[in-house]
Amino acid sequence: ILSVRHLQKHFGDLKVLNDIDFEVQEGETVCIIGSSGSGKSTLLRCLNLLEMPDGGEICYHDKNIMEGHIDLNMHRAKIGMVFQSFYLFNNMNVLENCVLGQRKVLKRDRKACEAKALELLTKVGMEKFVKAMPSTLSGGQKQRVAIARALCMDPEVLLFDEPTSALDPEMVNDVLNVMKGLSGSGLTMVVVTHEMSFAHDVADRVIFMDKGVIEEEGTPEQLFDNPQKERTKAFLSHEK
Ligand code: ATP
Ligand code: MG
Repeated sequence: ILSVRHLQKHFGDLKVLNDIDFEVQEGETVCIIGSSGSGKSTLLRCLNLLEMPDGGEICYHDKNIMEGHIDLNMHRAKIGMVFQSFYLFNNMNVLENCVLGQRKVLKRDRKACEAKALELLTKVGMEKFVKAMPSTLSGGQKQRVAIARALCMDPEVLLFDEPTSALDPEMVNDVLNVMKGLSGSGLTMVVVTHEMSFAHDVADRVIFMDKGVIEEEGTPEQLFDNPQKERTKAFLSHEK
């Protein structure tokens, strides 16, 4: 569904992504791990064009999204993103957070938007909070709303950038369990995470990034239980 070839991204003199190649198949959950500054967030941001890459290609359904005209809002609906710090609209309640994008981008009528919002808020266990303002929610609740909001857009791929890193420990599992459910239901997911046990249990494939390159890639068993590269071994020994 996604195919990235020779992807390059610089910030000034700093080479952040250096010849990245990888593919994501439909229905797969791919986890990306790696130390701080290795380029994980930049890679995700390139996939939904929050950053414009400097070179290479990103093909989505075999079409290079870096060429020609592309409707950015529609692209970001189809390839949704969930961030570490939620980015809910703080001036509107939970339901309206889930309605807005559907109205503006998908042009759905209000009734359909509300029905969809309620369905997905129920899926993440947040149906009791439709009228709540984001400021009254815990971090774990906010993140579940952010996931429901992304799902309301009927994405084909959902990107997660350290979705549990800003949460208190007791809320991490609520969010990881929602993500596990989504992965099991066949949604295509790319997840940047420091939760090694989640990556081990849920990922179909794990990618280890280091200094802007994919250093190693494999099934969770290959990567965690039998890493080949010294850098991977060193990283994993720190994470344990
Ligand atoms: P972390 O685990 O800390 O989130 P990361 O792997 O997500 O790290 P990135 O956020 O992709 O890393 O950053 C990679 C490098 O690019 C870092 O050195 C960072 O300082 C730099 N960088 C990221 N965004 C920008 C920007 N907008 N302008 C300049 N430099 C940037
Ligand atoms: Mg990051």
